[in-house]
Amino acid sequence: MSEKRKYGKKRCKFCEMKIDHIDYKDLDVLKYGISERFKIMPRRLTGTCKKHQEALSNAVKRARAAALLPYIVDRKHVVENPFDKIKPLHS
Ligand SMILES: [Zn+2]
Repeated sequence: MSEKRKYGKKRCKFCEMKIDHIDYKDLDVLKYGISERFKIMPRRLTGTCKKHQEALSNAVKRARAAALLPYIVDRKHVVENPFDKIKPLHS
């Protein structure tokens, strides 16, 4: 199995950053767990641990409900880094 290491080493970024609670308003944190089309990244690609993956998916769903993240992204609107377009609420 020679899987490409597209997303870097498989380690939980949230554990590394010592983030206990993932805030749905904190898009800087959420971006580590979603793809360029705002999909939640699967754990097998990101290496996020189970605890954080669950917290993350909850946070992303909440962020979508709060219109901080789009539910779907049009093919035409796929950009290299969608977070350039999102203004962080707090920095
Ligand atoms: Zn973790």
